[in-house]
Amino acid sequence: MAKVQRDLSICLPQFRTAKILDHSVIRVSRGVTHFAPGSYQYLLPAATSIPNLYLSGDWVVTRHGSWSQEKAYVTGLEAANLVINRFNQGKPADIIPVESDEPHIQALRSLNQTLRTVGNYLLPDFWLP
Ligand SMILES: Cc1cc2nc3c(=O)[nH]c(=O)nc-3n(C[C@H](O)[C@H](O)[C@H](O)COP(=O)(O)OP(=O)(O)OC[C@H]3O[C@@H](n4cnc5c(N)ncnc54)[C@H](O)[C@@H]3O)c2cc1C
Repeated sequence: MAKVQRDLSICLPQFRTAKILDHSVIRVSRGVTHFAPGSYQYLLPAATSIPNLYLSGDWVVTRHGSWSQEKAYVTGLEAANLVINRFNQGKPADIIPVESDEPHIQALRSLNQTLRTVGNYLLPDFWLP
């Protein structure tokens, strides 16, 4: 609990003086994530090669680049919108676009991309078999 309080207080200083009244540690049975660095390339698009099959959830590529309940919800709306488009019936959900990355994140992404490209060129298939 001391570690959690210390870590949280880095994000929100008010946590440092908070008095912990109760706590619990929860184990989520088989609650493991299937995602790891390099797995993005295996994610699927919402529209598939089967004309009336659309996908949503964790495994779908989208601008909502997380693995979260929000992504599951938003990609569900995106899939429903594809159905609406296909049948030309219904009112599409209004999906709020993700905000652009802040300039320093954009710069770091670009740097990361460059390093990966150079790395792949110099050491192809070095990190992932
Ligand atoms: C430990 C943990 C903590 C998390 N905490 C948060 C959090 O605090 N906030 C947050 O936003 N997100 C959190 N997430 C992420 C969030 O749970 C997922 O992003 C979200 O549930 C993805 O929704 P989904 O519909 O894609 O998949 P799931 O919710 O995984 O749904 C897939 C369903 O398909 C079923 N299924 C699988 N295979 C088959 C099959 N062959 N036949 C029939 N059914 C099948 C599964 O049983 C499951 O019910 C957490 C994830 C984990 C693992």
